[in-house]
Amino acid sequence: MSDIRPLIAGNWKMNGSRAAMAEVSALAAAHPAPGCDVMLCPPAPLLPIMVEAASGTKIAVGAQDCHANVSGAHTGDTSATLIAELGATAVIVGHSERRADHGETDAAIAAKAAAAHQAGLIAIICIGETEAERDAGRALEVARSQLAGSLPAGATAANTVIAYEPVWAIGTGKVASVADIDEVHSALRTALADLMSAEDAAATRLLYGGSVKPGNAAEIFAVTDVNGALVGGASLKAADFGGIIAAA
Ligand code: PEP
Repeated sequence: MSDIRPLIAGNWKMNGSRAAMAEVSALAAAHPAPGCDVMLCPPAPLLPIMVEAASGTKIAVGAQDCHANVSGAHTGDTSATLIAELGATAVIVGHSERRADHGETDAAIAAKAAAAHQAGLIAIICIGETEAERDAGRALEVARSQLAGSLPAGATAANTVIAYEPVWAIGTGKVASVADIDEVHSALRTALADLMSAEDAAATRLLYGGSVKPGNAAEIFAVTDVNGALVGGASLKAADFGGIIAAA
């Protein structure tokens, strides 16, 4: 990992409850001064509850998705403006589960990221190839193309985080090899230079995601262009997530 301050972000997906706020308190108590930025992204209804639970701690709160519009007839959706008003500071956009389950395109994701920026939120933009695409030798091409298509105008190192998450590694226990992570992250760093200023390209955080656990975090974080992780399953328990934070 370089001298960029890492971000360890937990994606609770459709898990968690009021009772799970005990994990937030336990995490905060165990990591009062982490050496990285720490964030948890619960389901939208839990946002204000988690913001309260994390108040006065080093844990930031993010959402898992937002709509591209500020308001309107979009039943079931949540605007970035409301997410910000509730006290969250970031939003994940373009997670592979949303790309697959909701047919989200790169253009739709770029519009969501732009809305996040407009609302003052950090957009955590997820990209990553499927197993078939990797097997076909297309991992780099897919990552570069999703990056270019999903990054909105006005993206900077301060308002944008990129999460490289190979789809076949999410929730499967299969982790990309350190060599594969290195190859993709360094290609993404190079590609960013064509999409934003050289300064922003060098400083934008590139997270790896896909079955990160306390036991494999250190070797992943040793990769030069890995600046943290987006963590699913292992973010639900303070002990597991804390182990990853400690490795950063
Ligand atoms: C994710 O949901 O973004 C993720 C990486 O999940 P997991 O850590 O469970 O593979």
